[in-house]
Amino acid sequence: MNTRDYIALEEQYGAHNYHPLDVVIERGEGVWVYDVDGKKYLDCLSAYSAVNQGHVHPRILAAAQEQMARLTLTSRAFRNNQLPLFYKELIELTGYDRVLPMNSGVEAVETAIKLARKWAYRVKGVPRHLAEIIVAEGNFHGRTIAVISFTSEKLYKEDFGPFTPGFKVVPYGDARAIKAAITPNTAAVMIEPVQGEAGVIVPPEGYLSQVAEICKENQVLFLADEIQSGLGRTGKLLACDHEGVRPDLVILGKALSGGFYPVSAVVGTEEVVGLITPGEHGSTFGGNPLGAAIARAALKVLVDEGLIENAAKLGSYFMERLAAIPSPHVEKIRGRGLLIGVVLKQEAGGARRFCEALQAEGILAKETHENVIRFAPPLVIDQATVDWALERIEKVLSMD
Ligand SMILES: *Cc1c(COP(=O)(O)O)cnc(C)c1O
Repeated sequence: MNTRDYIALEEQYGAHNYHPLDVVIERGEGVWVYDVDGKKYLDCLSAYSAVNQGHVHPRILAAAQEQMARLTLTSRAFRNNQLPLFYKELIELTGYDRVLPMNSGVEAVETAIKLARKWAYRVKGVPRHLAEIIVAEGNFHGRTIAVISFTSEKLYKEDFGPFTPGFKVVPYGDARAIKAAITPNTAAVMIEPVQGEAGVIVPPEGYLSQVAEICKENQVLFLADEIQSGLGRTGKLLACDHEGVRPDLVILGKALSGGFYPVSAVVGTEEVVGLITPGEHGSTFGGNPLGAAIARAALKVLVDEGLIENAAKLGSYFMERLAAIPSPHVEKIRGRGLLIGVVLKQEAGGARRFCEALQAEGILAKETHENVIRFAPPLVIDQATVDWALERIEKVLSMD
């Protein structure tokens, strides 16, 4: 079987809910992936930041293999010996009080919404079932019905109603709009500290701290979706750390898995996470020993290998060098750490053709929102590899 055969099978039998580049990957190692024809590519997407630690990291692989041979799943009806250590290590790293583990990112988002609503009824005194949550335009929090109920992306929701009530959408990056949207029934504000899927949108300086302050003044919870921006991607452990902001709940996913196996979690304060009682929420796989062992190794690798610092250093370098490329197509470069967006001019003809040209040069990157090329390589990348990539990116951005 070659590339064409695999693609034909996928197109014939799979639901067409993605439009991938025509590359069939069979192996990965660090920042590199290899296709079925043996061609090597630099992965500049990192599975939307789920492989921050690089593909098949040997230490995470060893932890996964060891745990897999020992015990994989007990359900939460019984305790296991990995989950408590995962809790302790995640709490020590983030400085919060409690963890609620789930699997996919969107499940952790739904968990945070449930926690915020319960807090509104039990602590704030909002009349039952009237809690409101304020979110931002351009948000991406996942794909469940509740979560697409407040997307501003037509394609994500158009054919999928009826929707879940209780959400208000305000412009991103405008703290005053949040203040104006707050009512006595507001439970929480939930935002991404950097909007990844919207095209790598970095909010204005001071936005996060203003949001935190507005929340505090109005007895409203601050929920940060750090599924993509967290765990080192932006050059800090959490993107909220850039403004020294401590949300009430932080939603983690993606890189918590080291790219091996879905693990997500909500970490937060005793006041909020402490409210949940047995039976109110759960998941058969959430908190299983295999996931917990993998997440423990994934967190250790981030810290031990200095990946957060590396993202800060090489992110600035990458962005500066990109900004210096004399391209007729580029409007601007934006980003934080190793989450970088190259914004193309309207007349550039869309980002997809540039991503296809990059693929031919051995770089896998994905367009977001038509006009933005996202560069988000695994955080284990080194400067020589960034230089290697820049040479090719410059060539592609200089084409007609
Ligand atoms: C990817 C993502 C999610 C959803 O995570 P899944 O694991 O795909 O459910 C939610 N929020 C943000 C910011 C994301 O990037």
